[in-house]
Amino acid sequence: MSDPTVPTTWRHFIGGSWVEPATGEYFDSTDPATRRTLYRAARGTAPDVERAVAAARDAFEDPRWRDLSQTRRGHLLRRLGELIAENADELALMESRDNGKLLREMRGQLATLPEYYHYYAGLADKIHGETIPASDRRVLNYTTREPLGVVGAITPWNSPLTLTTSKLAPALCAGNTVVIKPSEYTSATGLRLAELALEAGFPPGAVNVVTGFGAEAGQALADHPGLAKISFTGSTATGSRIAASAASRFIGTTLELGGKSPQIVFDDANVPNAAMGVVAGVFAAAGQTCIAGSRVLAHRAVYDELLERVCERAKSIRVGDPLDEATELGPLAFEAQRDKVAGYVDLGRAEGARVLTGGAATDGGLGGWFYEPTVLVDVDHGMRVVREEIFGPVVAIMPFDTEEEALRLANDTEYGLAAGVWTTGLARAHRVAARLDAGTVWVNTYRAMSPMSPRQGFKNSGVGVEHGTETIKEFTRLKSVWINTGEEPVADPFTMRS
Ligand code: NAD
Repeated sequence: MSDPTVPTTWRHFIGGSWVEPATGEYFDSTDPATRRTLYRAARGTAPDVERAVAAARDAFEDPRWRDLSQTRRGHLLRRLGELIAENADELALMESRDNGKLLREMRGQLATLPEYYHYYAGLADKIHGETIPASDRRVLNYTTREPLGVVGAITPWNSPLTLTTSKLAPALCAGNTVVIKPSEYTSATGLRLAELALEAGFPPGAVNVVTGFGAEAGQALADHPGLAKISFTGSTATGSRIAASAASRFIGTTLELGGKSPQIVFDDANVPNAAMGVVAGVFAAAGQTCIAGSRVLAHRAVYDELLERVCERAKSIRVGDPLDEATELGPLAFEAQRDKVAGYVDLGRAEGARVLTGGAATDGGLGGWFYEPTVLVDVDHGMRVVREEIFGPVVAIMPFDTEEEALRLANDTEYGLAAGVWTTGLARAHRVAARLDAGTVWVNTYRAMSPMSPRQGFKNSGVGVEHGTETIKEFTRLKSVWINTGEEPVADPFTMRS
Protein backbone atom coordinates (compact mmCIF):
# COMPACT_ATOMS: atom_id res chain seq x y z
CA MET A 1 0.00 0.00 0.00
CA SER A 2 1.20 3.51 -0.63
CA ASP A 3 0.36 4.53 2.93
CA PRO A 4 3.63 3.90 4.83
CA THR A 5 1.75 3.37 8.11
CA VAL A 6 0.04 0.26 6.71
CA PRO A 7 2.25 -2.83 6.85
CA THR A 8 3.05 -4.74 3.70
CA THR A 9 3.33 -7.98 5.62
CA TRP A 10 0.62 -9.10 8.01
CA ARG A 11 1.16 -11.89 10.53
CA HIS A 12 -1.55 -13.61 12.53
CA PHE A 13 -2.92 -11.78 15.54
CA ILE A 14 -3.04 -14.26 18.43
CA GLY A 15 -3.21 -13.63 22.16
CA GLY A 16 -2.72 -9.90 21.61
CA SER A 17 0.54 -10.31 19.63
CA TRP A 18 1.66 -10.57 16.03
CA VAL A 19 2.57 -14.19 15.37
CA GLU A 20 4.59 -15.75 12.52
CA PRO A 21 2.76 -18.54 10.65
CA ALA A 22 3.92 -22.01 11.73
CA THR A 23 5.03 -22.83 8.19
CA GLY A 24 6.71 -19.43 7.71
CA GLU A 25 4.67 -19.03 4.51
CA TYR A 26 2.85 -15.94 3.27
CA PHE A 27 0.56 -15.25 0.30
CA ASP A 28 -0.10 -12.13 -1.77
CA SER A 29 -3.24 -10.01 -1.64
CA THR A 30 -3.97 -8.16 -4.87
CA ASP A 31 -5.78 -4.94 -5.74
CA PRO A 32 -8.42 -6.17 -8.21
CA ALA A 33 -8.70 -2.77 -9.91
CA THR A 34 -5.04 -2.72 -10.92
CA ARG A 35 -3.80 -6.28 -10.27
CA ARG A 36 -0.99 -4.84 -8.18
CA THR A 37 0.10 -6.70 -5.06
CA LEU A 38 -0.99 -4.83 -1.96
CA TYR A 39 0.53 -6.85 0.87
CA ARG A 40 1.43 -10.36 2.03
CA ALA A 41 -0.58 -12.20 4.67
CA ALA A 42 0.33 -15.21 6.80
CA ARG A 43 -0.73 -18.54 5.33
CA GLY A 44 -2.43 -20.13 8.33
CA THR A 45 -2.57 -23.88 8.90
CA ALA A 46 -3.77 -26.18 11.69
CA PRO A 47 -0.97 -25.33 14.18
CA ASP A 48 -1.78 -21.61 13.91
CA VAL A 49 -5.46 -22.35 14.49
CA GLU A 50 -4.50 -24.53 17.46
CA ARG A 51 -2.54 -21.67 18.95
CA ALA A 52 -5.35 -19.16 18.37
CA VAL A 53 -8.06 -21.37 19.88
CA ALA A 54 -5.82 -22.02 22.91
CA ALA A 55 -5.27 -18.26 23.33
CA ALA A 56 -9.00 -17.63 23.05
CA ARG A 57 -9.72 -20.40 25.59
CA ASP A 58 -7.17 -18.96 28.03
CA ALA A 59 -8.73 -15.51 27.62
CA PHE A 60 -12.21 -16.95 28.14
CA GLU A 61 -11.16 -18.50 31.45
CA ASP A 62 -9.06 -15.55 32.56
CA PRO A 63 -10.78 -13.68 35.43
CA ARG A 64 -9.93 -10.40 33.64
CA TRP A 65 -12.55 -11.39 31.08
CA ARG A 66 -14.69 -14.01 32.85
CA ASP A 67 -15.36 -11.82 35.89
CA LEU A 68 -15.63 -8.52 34.05
CA SER A 69 -19.02 -6.97 34.74
CA GLN A 70 -21.44 -6.82 31.86
CA THR A 71 -21.47 -3.05 32.16
CA ARG A 72 -17.70 -2.98 31.66
CA ARG A 73 -18.02 -5.27 28.66
CA GLY A 74 -20.37 -2.68 27.24
CA HIS A 75 -17.81 0.06 27.85
CA LEU A 76 -15.19 -1.88 25.90
CA LEU A 77 -17.55 -2.35 22.96
CA ARG A 78 -18.36 1.35 23.01
CA ARG A 79 -14.66 2.20 23.00
CA LEU A 80 -14.05 -0.16 20.09
CA GLY A 81 -16.82 1.58 18.15
CA GLU A 82 -15.17 4.92 18.86
CA LEU A 83 -11.77 3.66 17.70
CA ILE A 84 -13.32 2.38 14.47
CA ALA A 85 -14.84 5.81 13.91
CA GLU A 86 -11.45 7.45 14.53
CA ASN A 87 -9.80 5.11 12.02
CA ALA A 88 -12.67 4.98 9.53
CA ASP A 89 -10.83 6.62 6.61
CA GLU A 90 -7.90 4.24 6.86
CA LEU A 91 -10.17 1.18 7.18
CA ALA A 92 -12.40 2.22 4.27
CA LEU A 93 -9.37 2.74 2.02
CA MET A 94 -7.91 -0.63 3.01
CA GLU A 95 -11.17 -2.43 2.22
CA SER A 96 -11.73 -0.60 -1.04
CA ARG A 97 -8.26 -1.46 -2.31
CA ASP A 98 -8.50 -5.03 -1.10
CA ASN A 99 -11.86 -6.05 -2.63
CA GLY A 100 -12.39 -3.30 -5.21
CA LYS A 101 -15.63 -1.98 -3.75
CA LEU A 102 -16.21 1.74 -4.19
CA LEU A 103 -14.40 3.87 -1.65
CA ARG A 104 -17.60 5.85 -1.09
CA GLU A 105 -19.51 2.61 -0.44
CA MET A 106 -16.87 1.51 2.08
CA ARG A 107 -16.86 4.98 3.67
CA GLY A 108 -20.62 4.64 4.03
CA GLN A 109 -20.25 1.23 5.67
CA LEU A 110 -17.53 2.52 7.98
CA ALA A 111 -19.72 5.48 8.96
CA THR A 112 -22.37 3.11 10.33
CA LEU A 113 -20.07 0.37 11.62
CA PRO A 114 -19.51 2.01 15.04
CA GLU A 115 -23.30 1.87 15.55
CA TYR A 116 -23.11 -1.92 15.63
CA TYR A 117 -20.63 -1.78 18.51
CA HIS A 118 -22.63 0.91 20.26
CA TYR A 119 -25.83 -1.10 19.87
CA TYR A 120 -24.24 -4.18 21.49
CA ALA A 121 -22.53 -1.96 24.07
CA GLY A 122 -26.02 -0.93 25.17
CA LEU A 123 -27.20 -4.52 25.20
CA ALA A 124 -24.29 -5.97 27.20
CA ASP A 125 -25.81 -5.26 30.64
CA LYS A 126 -29.30 -6.35 29.57
CA ILE A 127 -28.48 -10.02 29.08
CA HIS A 128 -30.11 -11.94 31.93
CA GLY A 129 -32.25 -14.91 32.74
CA GLU A 130 -35.66 -15.16 34.39
CA THR A 131 -37.23 -16.41 37.57
CA ILE A 132 -39.70 -19.21 36.93
CA PRO A 133 -42.62 -19.85 39.28
CA ALA A 134 -42.06 -23.49 40.23
CA SER A 135 -45.17 -25.18 41.60
CA ASP A 136 -43.50 -25.86 44.93
CA ARG A 137 -43.21 -22.44 46.58
CA ARG A 138 -40.14 -23.52 48.52
CA VAL A 139 -38.26 -24.02 45.29
CA LEU A 140 -36.50 -21.16 43.55
CA ASN A 141 -36.02 -21.82 39.85
CA TYR A 142 -34.13 -19.30 37.77
CA THR A 143 -32.31 -19.22 34.46
CA THR A 144 -29.01 -17.62 33.52
CA ARG A 145 -27.63 -16.85 30.08
CA GLU A 146 -24.01 -17.89 29.96
CA PRO A 147 -21.42 -17.23 27.26
CA LEU A 148 -20.59 -20.28 25.16
CA GLY A 149 -16.79 -20.15 25.12
CA VAL A 150 -14.62 -19.79 22.02
CA VAL A 151 -16.53 -18.76 18.89
CA GLY A 152 -15.07 -19.35 15.42
CA ALA A 153 -16.00 -16.61 12.94
CA ILE A 154 -15.36 -17.35 9.27
CA THR A 155 -16.11 -14.51 6.88
CA PRO A 156 -16.17 -13.67 3.15
CA TRP A 157 -14.53 -10.87 1.18
CA ASN A 158 -17.44 -8.77 0.00
CA SER A 159 -17.96 -6.58 3.08
CA PRO A 160 -15.27 -7.87 5.41
CA LEU A 161 -15.54 -5.53 8.38
CA THR A 162 -19.32 -5.29 8.39
CA LEU A 163 -19.81 -9.05 8.13
CA THR A 164 -17.15 -9.74 10.77
CA THR A 165 -18.80 -7.20 13.05
CA SER A 166 -22.17 -8.98 12.76
CA LYS A 167 -20.48 -11.86 14.59
CA LEU A 168 -17.82 -10.21 16.71
CA ALA A 169 -19.91 -7.52 18.40
CA PRO A 170 -22.67 -9.83 19.75
CA ALA A 171 -20.17 -12.62 20.55
CA LEU A 172 -18.13 -10.26 22.76
CA CYS A 173 -21.28 -8.64 24.12
CA ALA A 174 -22.34 -12.04 25.43
CA GLY A 175 -18.93 -12.71 27.02
CA ASN A 176 -17.37 -15.10 24.51
CA THR A 177 -13.91 -14.92 22.99
CA VAL A 178 -13.40 -15.16 19.24
CA VAL A 179 -11.09 -16.56 16.57
CA ILE A 180 -11.68 -14.91 13.20
CA LYS A 181 -10.68 -16.42 9.86
CA PRO A 182 -11.15 -13.68 7.26
CA SER A 183 -11.35 -14.39 3.54
CA GLU A 184 -8.00 -14.95 1.87
CA TYR A 185 -8.92 -12.08 -0.48
CA THR A 186 -9.33 -9.54 2.32
CA SER A 187 -7.11 -10.39 5.27
CA ALA A 188 -5.93 -6.98 6.40
CA THR A 189 -8.91 -5.20 7.94
CA GLY A 190 -9.81 -8.12 10.22
CA LEU A 191 -6.29 -7.96 11.61
CA ARG A 192 -6.54 -4.22 12.08
CA LEU A 193 -9.89 -4.70 13.84
CA ALA A 194 -8.32 -7.16 16.29
CA GLU A 195 -5.55 -4.67 16.95
CA LEU A 196 -8.13 -1.96 17.66
CA ALA A 197 -10.00 -4.34 20.01
CA LEU A 198 -6.81 -4.74 22.05
CA GLU A 199 -6.36 -0.97 22.08
CA ALA A 200 -9.96 -0.58 23.23
CA GLY A 201 -9.12 -2.65 26.31
CA PHE A 202 -10.30 -6.15 25.43
CA PRO A 203 -7.83 -8.54 27.09
CA PRO A 204 -5.23 -10.29 24.92
CA GLY A 205 -6.78 -13.39 23.37
CA ALA A 206 -10.36 -12.08 23.39
CA VAL A 207 -10.08 -11.37 19.65
CA ASN A 208 -7.69 -13.45 17.52
CA VAL A 209 -7.23 -13.57 13.77
CA VAL A 210 -5.73 -16.39 11.74
CA THR A 211 -5.43 -15.57 8.04
CA GLY A 212 -5.16 -18.03 5.18
CA PHE A 213 -7.06 -20.20 2.73
CA GLY A 214 -10.41 -21.87 3.27
CA ALA A 215 -9.19 -25.42 2.79
CA GLU A 216 -6.32 -24.86 5.24
CA ALA A 217 -7.00 -22.29 7.95
CA GLY A 218 -10.80 -22.22 7.47
CA GLN A 219 -11.25 -25.96 7.57
CA ALA A 220 -8.89 -26.33 10.54
CA LEU A 221 -10.89 -23.74 12.47
CA ALA A 222 -14.29 -25.17 11.53
CA ASP A 223 -13.17 -28.65 12.62
CA HIS A 224 -11.44 -27.59 15.84
CA PRO A 225 -12.84 -29.43 18.88
CA GLY A 226 -12.18 -26.40 21.10
CA LEU A 227 -14.90 -24.28 19.49
CA ALA A 228 -18.22 -23.82 21.24
CA LYS A 229 -19.87 -22.34 18.14
CA ILE A 230 -19.19 -21.46 14.52
CA SER A 231 -20.60 -18.34 12.96
CA PHE A 232 -20.08 -18.37 9.21
CA THR A 233 -20.90 -16.08 6.31
CA GLY A 234 -20.12 -17.28 2.82
CA SER A 235 -21.28 -19.61 0.11
CA THR A 236 -23.96 -22.23 0.61
CA ALA A 237 -21.53 -25.01 -0.41
CA THR A 238 -18.99 -24.07 2.28
CA GLY A 239 -21.77 -23.48 4.81
CA SER A 240 -23.06 -26.97 4.26
CA ARG A 241 -19.60 -28.46 4.91
CA ILE A 242 -19.22 -26.40 8.08
CA ALA A 243 -22.70 -27.35 9.31
CA ALA A 244 -21.86 -31.04 8.90
CA SER A 245 -18.62 -30.63 10.82
CA ALA A 246 -20.37 -28.70 13.61
CA ALA A 247 -23.19 -31.24 13.79
CA SER A 248 -20.70 -34.06 14.37
CA ARG A 249 -19.63 -32.25 17.57
CA PHE A 250 -23.15 -31.04 18.50
CA ILE A 251 -22.12 -27.38 18.49
CA GLY A 252 -24.32 -24.61 17.18
CA THR A 253 -23.89 -22.68 13.97
CA THR A 254 -25.10 -19.41 12.59
CA LEU A 255 -24.89 -19.55 8.81
CA GLU A 256 -25.45 -16.59 6.50
CA LEU A 257 -25.26 -17.99 2.99
CA GLY A 258 -26.02 -17.26 -0.63
CA GLY A 259 -29.08 -15.85 -2.36
CA LYS A 260 -30.93 -15.37 -5.63
CA SER A 261 -33.27 -12.68 -4.44
CA PRO A 262 -36.34 -11.63 -6.42
CA GLN A 263 -37.57 -8.09 -6.89
CA ILE A 264 -41.25 -7.94 -7.85
CA VAL A 265 -42.48 -4.81 -9.64
CA PHE A 266 -46.28 -4.64 -9.67
CA ASP A 267 -48.42 -2.68 -12.15
CA ASP A 268 -49.28 -0.15 -9.41
CA ALA A 269 -45.60 0.55 -8.63
CA ASN A 270 -43.83 3.86 -8.91
CA VAL A 271 -41.81 2.62 -11.88
CA PRO A 272 -38.98 5.22 -11.80
CA ASN A 273 -38.35 4.34 -8.14
CA ALA A 274 -38.59 0.63 -8.84
CA ALA A 275 -36.04 0.98 -11.65
CA MET A 276 -33.68 2.74 -9.24
CA GLY A 277 -34.31 -0.06 -6.74
CA VAL A 278 -33.43 -2.69 -9.33
CA VAL A 279 -30.23 -0.84 -10.24
CA ALA A 280 -29.31 -0.44 -6.54
CA GLY A 281 -30.17 -4.07 -5.84
CA VAL A 282 -27.90 -5.64 -8.40
CA PHE A 283 -25.36 -3.12 -9.70
CA ALA A 284 -24.32 -1.56 -6.38
CA ALA A 285 -21.12 -3.23 -5.16
CA ALA A 286 -20.89 -4.75 -8.68
CA GLY A 287 -23.54 -7.23 -7.58
CA GLN A 288 -21.19 -8.79 -5.04
CA THR A 289 -23.70 -8.84 -2.24
CA CYS A 290 -25.55 -11.83 -0.84
CA ILE A 291 -28.78 -9.85 -1.11
CA ALA A 292 -28.32 -8.93 -4.79
CA GLY A 293 -31.78 -8.59 -6.35
CA SER A 294 -30.70 -10.62 -9.34
CA ARG A 295 -34.13 -11.87 -10.50
CA VAL A 296 -36.60 -9.16 -11.44
CA LEU A 297 -40.25 -10.01 -12.02
CA ALA A 298 -42.12 -7.14 -13.66
CA HIS A 299 -45.86 -7.02 -14.30
CA ARG A 300 -46.46 -7.09 -18.05
CA ALA A 301 -48.15 -3.66 -17.93
CA VAL A 302 -44.93 -2.01 -16.66
CA TYR A 303 -42.36 -4.46 -18.07
CA ASP A 304 -41.30 -2.35 -21.10
CA GLU A 305 -41.02 0.87 -19.13
CA LEU A 306 -39.03 -0.79 -16.35
CA LEU A 307 -36.70 -2.46 -18.82
CA GLU A 308 -36.07 0.79 -20.64
CA ARG A 309 -35.32 2.67 -17.43
CA VAL A 310 -33.04 -0.04 -16.01
CA CYS A 311 -31.13 -0.41 -19.28
CA GLU A 312 -30.75 3.33 -19.69
CA ARG A 313 -29.28 3.66 -16.20
CA ALA A 314 -27.15 0.53 -16.60
CA LYS A 315 -25.59 1.93 -19.78
CA SER A 316 -24.70 5.18 -18.02
CA ILE A 317 -23.04 3.52 -14.99
CA ARG A 318 -19.49 4.83 -14.67
CA VAL A 319 -17.13 1.86 -14.48
CA GLY A 320 -13.60 2.41 -13.24
CA ASP A 321 -11.31 3.24 -10.35
CA PRO A 322 -13.11 2.44 -7.07
CA LEU A 323 -11.13 5.16 -5.31
CA ASP A 324 -12.58 7.84 -7.64
CA GLU A 325 -15.65 9.49 -6.08
CA ALA A 326 -17.38 9.61 -9.47
CA THR A 327 -17.11 5.86 -10.12
CA GLU A 328 -20.29 3.81 -9.77
CA LEU A 329 -19.05 0.31 -10.49
CA GLY A 330 -15.68 -1.12 -9.48
CA PRO A 331 -14.05 -4.42 -10.36
CA LEU A 332 -14.96 -7.92 -9.28
CA ALA A 333 -12.87 -8.86 -6.28
CA PHE A 334 -10.54 -11.32 -8.01
CA GLU A 335 -9.89 -12.94 -11.36
CA ALA A 336 -11.82 -16.17 -10.76
CA GLN A 337 -14.85 -14.14 -9.69
CA ARG A 338 -14.71 -12.09 -12.91
CA ASP A 339 -14.36 -15.30 -14.93
CA LYS A 340 -17.30 -16.85 -13.07
CA VAL A 341 -19.52 -13.87 -13.94
CA ALA A 342 -18.40 -13.94 -17.59
CA GLY A 343 -19.01 -17.69 -17.69
CA TYR A 344 -22.57 -17.27 -16.43
CA VAL A 345 -23.41 -14.66 -19.05
CA ASP A 346 -22.02 -16.94 -21.78
CA LEU A 347 -24.07 -19.77 -20.34
CA GLY A 348 -27.17 -17.56 -20.35
CA ARG A 349 -26.61 -16.79 -24.05
CA ALA A 350 -26.23 -20.50 -24.76
CA GLU A 351 -29.46 -21.17 -22.84
CA GLY A 352 -31.31 -18.68 -25.04
CA ALA A 353 -31.18 -15.50 -22.96
CA ARG A 354 -30.74 -12.19 -24.76
CA VAL A 355 -28.22 -9.64 -23.50
CA LEU A 356 -29.91 -6.24 -23.65
CA THR A 357 -26.97 -4.31 -22.33
CA GLY A 358 -23.48 -5.15 -21.06
CA GLY A 359 -22.30 -8.73 -21.42
CA ALA A 360 -18.54 -8.22 -21.64
CA ALA A 361 -15.49 -8.17 -19.43
CA THR A 362 -13.40 -5.00 -19.38
CA ASP A 363 -10.20 -3.95 -17.65
CA GLY A 364 -11.80 -0.73 -16.43
CA GLY A 365 -8.97 1.24 -18.04
CA LEU A 366 -6.75 0.11 -15.18
CA GLY A 367 -5.86 -3.45 -16.12
CA GLY A 368 -8.28 -4.87 -13.53
CA TRP A 369 -11.01 -7.52 -13.37
CA PHE A 370 -14.16 -5.62 -14.35
CA TYR A 371 -17.46 -6.72 -15.89
CA GLU A 372 -20.07 -4.48 -17.52
CA PRO A 373 -23.49 -4.03 -15.88
CA THR A 374 -25.56 -6.62 -17.69
CA VAL A 375 -29.30 -7.03 -18.30
CA LEU A 376 -30.62 -10.40 -19.48
CA VAL A 377 -34.11 -10.92 -20.94
CA ASP A 378 -35.96 -13.79 -22.61
CA VAL A 379 -35.16 -15.82 -19.54
CA ASP A 380 -37.15 -18.39 -17.58
CA HIS A 381 -36.89 -20.40 -14.41
CA GLY A 382 -35.44 -23.41 -16.20
CA MET A 383 -32.19 -21.52 -16.86
CA ARG A 384 -29.16 -21.72 -14.61
CA VAL A 385 -28.64 -17.93 -14.86
CA VAL A 386 -32.02 -17.55 -13.16
CA ARG A 387 -31.53 -20.33 -10.60
CA GLU A 388 -27.91 -19.95 -9.49
CA GLU A 389 -26.13 -17.19 -7.62
CA ILE A 390 -23.86 -15.26 -10.01
CA PHE A 391 -22.50 -12.72 -7.48
CA GLY A 392 -21.84 -10.09 -10.11
CA PRO A 393 -23.54 -7.18 -11.94
CA VAL A 394 -25.99 -9.36 -13.86
CA VAL A 395 -29.77 -9.13 -13.64
CA ALA A 396 -32.39 -11.33 -15.31
CA ILE A 397 -35.70 -9.56 -15.95
CA MET A 398 -38.91 -11.41 -16.81
CA PRO A 399 -42.62 -10.49 -17.09
CA PHE A 400 -45.57 -11.88 -15.12
CA ASP A 401 -49.34 -11.49 -15.37
CA THR A 402 -50.84 -12.13 -11.94
CA GLU A 403 -49.85 -11.70 -8.29
CA GLU A 404 -50.15 -15.45 -7.80
CA GLU A 405 -47.72 -16.10 -10.66
CA ALA A 406 -45.28 -13.51 -9.30
CA LEU A 407 -45.31 -15.18 -5.88
CA ARG A 408 -44.89 -18.64 -7.37
CA LEU A 409 -41.86 -17.51 -9.42
CA ALA A 410 -40.37 -15.47 -6.56
CA ASN A 411 -40.50 -18.50 -4.25
CA ASP A 412 -39.30 -20.94 -6.91
CA THR A 413 -35.71 -20.99 -5.67
CA GLU A 414 -33.52 -22.96 -3.29
CA TYR A 415 -32.65 -19.66 -1.58
CA GLY A 416 -34.62 -17.44 0.77
CA LEU A 417 -32.42 -14.55 1.82
CA ALA A 418 -34.25 -11.42 0.71
CA ALA A 419 -36.92 -10.06 -1.61
CA GLY A 420 -38.03 -6.67 -2.91
CA VAL A 421 -41.62 -5.60 -3.58
CA TRP A 422 -42.57 -2.47 -5.51
CA THR A 423 -46.22 -1.45 -5.14
CA THR A 424 -48.28 1.50 -3.97
CA GLY A 425 -50.98 -0.83 -2.66
CA LEU A 426 -50.84 -1.12 1.13
CA ALA A 427 -52.89 -4.30 1.27
CA ARG A 428 -50.83 -5.89 -1.49
CA ALA A 429 -47.57 -4.93 0.25
CA HIS A 430 -48.59 -6.79 3.43
CA ARG A 431 -50.16 -9.70 1.58
CA VAL A 432 -47.12 -10.32 -0.61
CA ALA A 433 -44.60 -9.76 2.23
CA ALA A 434 -46.41 -12.41 4.26
CA ARG A 435 -46.22 -14.98 1.47
CA LEU A 436 -42.64 -14.45 0.33
CA ASP A 437 -40.29 -17.20 1.42
CA ALA A 438 -37.46 -14.84 2.37
CA GLY A 439 -35.92 -13.76 5.68
CA THR A 440 -35.92 -10.08 4.72
CA VAL A 441 -38.58 -8.33 2.63
CA TRP A 442 -38.13 -4.75 1.49
CA VAL A 443 -41.15 -2.86 0.17
CA ASN A 444 -40.42 0.21 -1.99
CA THR A 445 -36.78 0.13 -0.88
CA TYR A 446 -33.88 -2.31 -1.12
CA ARG A 447 -30.57 -3.08 0.59
CA ALA A 448 -31.48 -1.37 3.88
CA MET A 449 -29.74 -2.69 7.02
CA SER A 450 -29.47 -1.82 10.69
CA PRO A 451 -27.83 -3.41 13.73
CA MET A 452 -31.27 -3.26 15.35
CA SER A 453 -33.03 -5.31 12.71
CA PRO A 454 -32.63 -9.10 12.89
CA ARG A 455 -31.98 -10.97 9.68
CA GLN A 456 -32.12 -14.61 8.81
CA GLY A 457 -31.81 -16.57 5.63
CA PHE A 458 -34.59 -19.04 4.90
CA LYS A 459 -34.10 -22.34 3.04
CA ASN A 460 -30.53 -22.73 1.67
CA SER A 461 -29.71 -19.12 2.59
CA GLY A 462 -28.91 -19.86 6.18
CA VAL A 463 -29.54 -20.91 9.73
CA GLY A 464 -29.89 -18.62 12.74
CA VAL A 465 -30.30 -14.90 13.23
CA GLU A 466 -27.82 -12.05 13.01
CA HIS A 467 -28.30 -8.52 14.38
CA GLY A 468 -30.83 -7.21 16.86
CA THR A 469 -31.40 -8.62 20.32
CA GLU A 470 -32.34 -12.01 18.87
CA THR A 471 -28.76 -12.91 17.93
CA ILE A 472 -27.68 -12.83 21.58
CA LYS A 473 -29.51 -16.10 22.09
CA GLU A 474 -27.18 -17.63 19.52
CA PHE A 475 -24.12 -16.62 21.52
CA THR A 476 -25.33 -17.77 24.95
CA ARG A 477 -26.49 -20.97 26.55
CA LEU A 478 -29.40 -21.15 28.91
CA LYS A 479 -28.92 -22.71 32.34
CA SER A 480 -31.81 -23.59 34.65
CA VAL A 481 -30.97 -23.56 38.37
CA TRP A 482 -33.30 -25.15 40.98
CA ILE A 483 -32.76 -24.33 44.63
CA ASN A 484 -34.80 -26.01 47.30
CA THR A 485 -35.14 -23.56 50.16
CA GLY A 486 -37.28 -25.96 52.21
CA GLU A 487 -35.80 -27.62 55.28
CA GLU A 488 -38.28 -30.47 55.60
CA PRO A 489 -37.01 -34.03 55.32
CA VAL A 490 -37.04 -35.45 51.77
CA ALA A 491 -40.19 -37.55 51.30
CA ASP A 492 -40.59 -40.14 48.53
CA PRO A 493 -37.27 -40.37 46.58
CA PHE A 494 -38.93 -42.35 43.75
CA THR A 495 -41.21 -39.67 42.30
CA MET A 496 -40.34 -36.65 40.22
CA ARG A 497 -40.44 -33.24 41.90
CA SER A 498 -41.64 -29.87 40.65
P1 NAD B 1 -16.74 -18.88 0.50
O1 NAD B 1 -17.70 -19.84 1.09
O2 NAD B 1 -15.89 -19.34 -0.63
O3 NAD B 1 -15.72 -18.38 1.62
C1 NAD B 1 -16.16 -17.77 2.82
C2 NAD B 1 -15.12 -18.04 3.89
O4 NAD B 1 -15.05 -19.43 4.14
C3 NAD B 1 -13.71 -17.60 3.51
O5 NAD B 1 -13.06 -17.09 4.65
C4 NAD B 1 -13.07 -18.90 3.07
O6 NAD B 1 -11.68 -18.91 3.20
C5 NAD B 1 -13.72 -19.88 4.03
N1 NAD B 1 -13.73 -21.26 3.58
C6 NAD B 1 -13.72 -21.73 2.30
N2 NAD B 1 -13.72 -23.09 2.31
C7 NAD B 1 -13.76 -23.47 3.62
C8 NAD B 1 -13.80 -24.73 4.27
N3 NAD B 1 -13.79 -25.87 3.59
N4 NAD B 1 -13.87 -24.75 5.62
C9 NAD B 1 -13.91 -23.61 6.32
N5 NAD B 1 -13.84 -22.39 5.76
C10 NAD B 1 -13.77 -22.31 4.42
O7 NAD B 1 -17.57 -17.59 0.13
P2 NAD B 1 -17.02 -16.25 -0.55
O8 NAD B 1 -16.81 -16.52 -2.00
O9 NAD B 1 -15.88 -15.70 0.24
O10 NAD B 1 -18.25 -15.27 -0.34
C11 NAD B 1 -19.28 -15.17 -1.23
C12 NAD B 1 -20.49 -15.92 -0.73
O11 NAD B 1 -20.86 -15.42 0.54
C13 NAD B 1 -21.71 -15.75 -1.60
O12 NAD B 1 -22.37 -16.98 -1.76
C14 NAD B 1 -22.58 -14.78 -0.81
O13 NAD B 1 -23.95 -14.86 -1.09
C15 NAD B 1 -22.26 -15.17 0.58
N6 NAD B 1 -22.58 -14.07 1.50
C16 NAD B 1 -23.65 -14.20 2.32
C17 NAD B 1 -24.01 -13.16 3.17
C18 NAD B 1 -25.21 -13.26 4.08
O14 NAD B 1 -25.31 -12.48 5.01
N7 NAD B 1 -26.11 -14.20 3.87
C19 NAD B 1 -23.25 -11.99 3.17
C20 NAD B 1 -22.17 -11.90 2.31
C21 NAD B 1 -21.83 -12.95 1.49
